[in-house]
Amino acid sequence: MLEVEGLRKHFVTRKGFPKPRTVTVRAVEDVSFRIHEGEAFGLVGESGCGKSTAARALLRLIEPDAGRVTWRGEDVIAARGEHLKTLRRRMQIVFQDPYSSLDPRQSVGSALVEPMRVHGIAEGKEARRRAAALLEEVGLPPAALDRFPHEFSGGQRQRIGIARALTVEPELIVADEPVSALDVSVQAQVLLLLKELRQRRGLAFLFVSHDLSVIRWFCDRVAVMYLGRIVEEGPSSRVLADPMHPYARMLRDASPVPDPSRRAALPRILGEIPSAANPPPGCPFHPRCAQAMPACATTLPRWTSAPGEGQGGVACHLHG
Ligand code: SF4
Repeated sequence: MLEVEGLRKHFVTRKGFPKPRTVTVRAVEDVSFRIHEGEAFGLVGESGCGKSTAARALLRLIEPDAGRVTWRGEDVIAARGEHLKTLRRRMQIVFQDPYSSLDPRQSVGSALVEPMRVHGIAEGKEARRRAAALLEEVGLPPAALDRFPHEFSGGQRQRIGIARALTVEPELIVADEPVSALDVSVQAQVLLLLKELRQRRGLAFLFVSHDLSVIRWFCDRVAVMYLGRIVEEGPSSRVLADPMHPYARMLRDASPVPDPSRRAALPRILGEIPSAANPPPGCPFHPRCAQAMPACATTLPRWTSAPGEGQGGVACHLHG
């Protein structure tokens, strides 16, 4: 359904005082993955690892510097005008912060009707009828159509954001940390809603999160990102239970567990994530890796398949 190959995105900024210098931040470096029909694929990693940038670049909300993105065989990067509009309809995003993604001056009804009109799906009364049905589907009353975003709680606003993504009948939802800005008490409700929608509508998901427990619960397959690169990929059941990459293992061990008595024993993630403006040579994880060997400081590990059919792979000299 969606194929991403060698995606790259660098940002050039000026930093420093009194003599600012040009700095290149390597946010996304050679990222490749595939999402199959109806599949939930997770991108996981610490804050700043490039997962949200990769998601935005493949949707062309920001332009990638290099790489290929194909949707059912069609080139997304080369698409322009009406062709790009049609492709964008198939892939919709739900943002982390539902408040900033909704226009405070626009009623909920108008926010839902507008995409239908732009994409030629429905207008007037029919668009309003569809918008009311979508609100009900995400657990809000149709009366919400005439209200404004500030009248709703964070969880309700995220439901509105989800309804808006559904207005154009997408096949893939890119969910970018969709519950991390919400109170813990409502996170589970919104996650359950997303899972119900996935099952009812047969939607595929690219689910971006720093939270392994959410990825474990929601996703069929997962890619672990570190400093802009995918370091391990495979079925969630394998990668999150028995990770091969030392960083994926560290993330797994630092992930909250349901049993509170075990939480105190959780190891902390060692060290700080290095700057993407100055990534270490060789394996980008080597300054934090307890298993690093001399080659790790000089040579970028190549991608190696995990044992067994469809078990994904890993980029680590321990498995090369
Ligand atoms: Fe650690 Fe070396 Fe593997 Fe990198 S390549 S994760 S430094 S063992």
